[in-house]
Formats: sequence, C-alpha cells, structure tokens
Amino acid sequence: MTVQSVLDKVSEVPGAGEVIRVIDPSTEEQITEFRDGGAAAVDEAVARARATFESGVWRNLPARERAQILWKVADLIDVRAPELVQLETINNGMPFVAAEGILPSCAELFRYYAGWCTKIEGTSFDIQMTAGITGTQADLHGYTLKEPLGVVGLIFPWNGPLFNACIKLAPALAAGNSCVVKPAEETPVTAFVLDQILREAGVPEGVVNLVLGYGHTAGAAISAHPDVDKVAFTGSTEVGKLIVQAASGNLKKVTLELGGKSPVLIFNDADLDTAILSAAMGIFVGSGQGCVCGSRIFVQRGAFDRVVEGISAIANGIQLGGPKDEGAHIGPLISRKQLNRVMGYVDEGRQEGVEVVTGGHRLDRKGYFVHPTVLTNVSTDARLYREEIFGPVVAVLPFDDEDEAIALANDTTYGLAGAVYTQNGARAHRLAKRIEAGTITLNCQLVFDHQMPFGGYKQSGWGREFGKDGIEMYLQTKSVYNQL
Ligand code: NAP
Ligand code: MG
Repeated sequence: MTVQSVLDKVSEVPGAGEVIRVIDPSTEEQITEFRDGGAAAVDEAVARARATFESGVWRNLPARERAQILWKVADLIDVRAPELVQLETINNGMPFVAAEGILPSCAELFRYYAGWCTKIEGTSFDIQMTAGITGTQADLHGYTLKEPLGVVGLIFPWNGPLFNACIKLAPALAAGNSCVVKPAEETPVTAFVLDQILREAGVPEGVVNLVLGYGHTAGAAISAHPDVDKVAFTGSTEVGKLIVQAASGNLKKVTLELGGKSPVLIFNDADLDTAILSAAMGIFVGSGQGCVCGSRIFVQRGAFDRVVEGISAIANGIQLGGPKDEGAHIGPLISRKQLNRVMGYVDEGRQEGVEVVTGGHRLDRKGYFVHPTVLTNVSTDARLYREEIFGPVVAVLPFDDEDEAIALANDTTYGLAGAVYTQNGARAHRLAKRIEAGTITLNCQLVFDHQMPFGGYKQSGWGREFGKDGIEMYLQTKSVYNQL
C-alpha cells in the first residue's frame, strides 16, 4: 500500500470519541487523524478476543501451524519494510537510518517466538507420597501443562512504535492468547499495518484486536476490564502504578516495562574513546527517548574532564533532523508536550545552579528538536537527577572509588539498566553483581538480543520480556496429579 493510503485507512478505524490528530514531530504537520475508540471499542475488542479464545481457533491450532503463521508475519514485515520504514519515520520523526536499523529486529522477534510455539512444554514428576492429606500412601504421576492466559491487553508507548508492538505480540501469540492491542495515541500507524500483516499471514479474525485511543480512555478501559486476563504494559512508572490499581478489580496478571534513570560508570582505566562514544550514544540515541538510556554518567575523577569534553563534542556534532533532512542521525522528541517537559527540567536545573556544558535549548526550526544536552554540577537531590526526563539530557558526576560509584548508581528508585566501562575484568563483573538493575552492559551500551531476558529491578517493572522468560509471561502452569 502507499503511505498515503495507510494514513487514510488509519483515520477510518472505528471510534466515536474525540478526534485525535497524528503529528509528524519533525515538521509539526498533521499526517492523519482518528477518533478515540475509548471504552466502547475496548468492550467490542475484548468480546471478539474472548470469542476466539473460547472457540480455540488460535490456541488449539497445532503448534507448528501457529509457528508457520508467525514466521510468515516476519516474512511480510520484511516484504513491507520500505513502507513500514517510511511510515515509522513520519509518525515518530526518527530518521530513516534509525527506522531501517530497527526493522530487522521486528521481523526477527516473530521468527524467534515462532520457534517457541513447538517448545512449550511442561515437566513430569514421579511422586511417592508417604502421607498425603488423607494420611494414605500413594504412588502418583504428576505433570504440568503450560496454557495460555486468555485475553491479554497489550499497551505500549511511542518511542519505537513497531518494535514495541512486536515485543508483546510475538510471545503473546506464540503462547496461544487472544489480544487487544493499544498503541500510544501519538503513534498508531505502524501498529495498524502490523494488524493488517497479522491477518494476511493467517492469524484468524478476532484473535488480534487493535484499539486506537488515549491511555486515560482506551488504555484505562483495558486495564480495568473484568474480562481481560492480563495486561502487558510498557510506559512510565507513573502509569504503571495506575495499571496495577485498575487491574486489581479482577486481579488480572500484570507485567510492566517501565522507566529508568540508568547509571553509566566510567573508570580511569577504561578505553576512554570507546566509553565516551558509547555513553554519548547511550543517552542521545532517539533523542533520549529510550527506556535504557544512560541518563546519569559517573566518571572517576581522573577521567572526568576528558569524558565531559568528549561527550559534549559528540553532542555538538550530532545532526538532528527528521526523515526529510539528509544525513540526520537523530530525530525530534515525539510531541510538544514532551518538548515542554524536557525543557522544564533543564530550565529548573539552570535556576538551581546546574552547569549547562552544551545544549539546553530547542532548535530554532520546526519540529520538537532539543540540542543534546550535557549537565555538570548537578545536585543528587535535583528533580532532573532523580526523575526520568526521557529526553537528550545527561547529568555527569565525578566519583573517587568503586564504593562511591555504586552508592551513586543505586541511589534511585529505578533499576532498568546499568553500564560499566573498565579494562579491569574482575572489577567489571564485580560491579555487574552490585548494580541494582535488570540489564548490565560491560564496555558497551544499547545492546539487545531476543534470547536475553529484559526487564526492571525496583520500580522499573515487573516480569521480563524477550527470551524464554518472555513467553512464560503469557503462559500459566497447571499441575495434574494422576493416581497410579
Ligand atoms: P505513558 O504515558 O506511560 O504511556 C504509555 C502507554 O500507556 C501509552 O499507550 C498511553 O496511552 C498508555 N496510558 C496512559 N495512561 C494510561 C492509563 N491510565 N491506563 C492505561 N494506559 C495508559 O508513557 P509514554 O510517556 O508514552 O512513554 C514513555 C515512558 O515509557 C518512559 O517512562 C519510558 O521509560 C517508558 N518506556 C519503557 C520501556 C521499557 O521497556 N521498560 C520501553 C519504552 C518506554 P496514550 O499515550 O495514548 O495516552
Ligand atoms: Mg502518552
């Protein structure tokens, strides 16, 4: 399909609520609009999902057939890659290189979880019960069954719209669930195309149900719905807490991939050129709109000036721009709201005496672009130090020794990721154990693999995505006892 025809179709998705305009954040121009589906669309979507789950049209399909369909989804993502790249860029604002870079991972997620369909298996047990509840002896055979949860609600943000959708849909479908899907209201476009692809690949009608709308309307309705068995959510910690409250009505299962304030530790003995480049990209990529972005960089005192200088030089060399800007590395923030939020933190920091080494201003052009920003002289009490900014803003602080570095790194309510740069192997592994976070990267950042579990310690989340843990989150275990 052409880009324009997809955008036209998005505006036809049924909804009776407020009109929501979809903006290209690199130009501030409207690309399409749709009506908020709200609670009414969620009710219909849940009913359709429930009907397909009860009928078994998907969950009872032989596992190899589910696998074939998911594999075909991956192939169709590849076939429609050029169109998906274009749509992702005009909806999210990211440059082509960024969208092109992430697309193979989207397809690969479906291939990876297609492989799991035929490997969902329980365990068996020989049980010699010497004194059960009845006091009798018994020989029993026990086994476990792994079963899908039922109707699962999938809610995710705008920072990698298609990738976020694939992270949830691939394992949820591999496990045999029926789904209700709500992308961020800012970025509905590639989720809409993925929905088409799923049908074309052979996922039966009604198994995946796309709802477009706001979080406080459609998202809240999914979280509170009595007939939804699980919500898998990616977003802010603040909204994660609302989801947990809403889910308590029917005690639906909840997994949460939330925010971060991830520490990066750079020691004097690190390969500093690598550390500087990697730490700079680790915060500025996606204009800082990544949950794992290393937004607090701690540098051992001997290397402090060189690292601040190096990261600032990279910040100044980054070419910001949208899909239409030739040679752009990094795109804008997603919305005016996000722009105001990010600038609010920086302005507040200035008033508190933070030193803005570079950046700290938006670009003088259309689009929600903020110059990559390096801050020093930051108080550990400052809001900008403690809260997730989700923008291209990094605080750089000095430390003297490992203990001080760890104390600083762990002084946060978040625990999504952490990075260490040192050429001392023992120190690297020692610190990997001491940082309180779900993912640790040693002498690198921004690395993901489908096989490796991903998720948060502390208030960065519940549960894991990717890998075997990822599919387990969409399964439940049944224990069966059999008298021999
Ligand atoms: P957000 O405001 O929490 O929204 C995330 C999603 O939840 C959106 O689809 C949003 O809908 C919806 N939502 C909002 N209020 C809701 C409610 N009351 N009930 C149910 N759903 C609701 O987050 P964001 O600002 O879009 O995204 C940035 C955040 O996501 C950051 O904190 C970032 O760290 C986090 N994130 C985490 C990961 C991870 O894997 N850990 C990955 C990416 C991003 P609308 O926006 O359409 O209203
Ligand atoms: Mg939002």
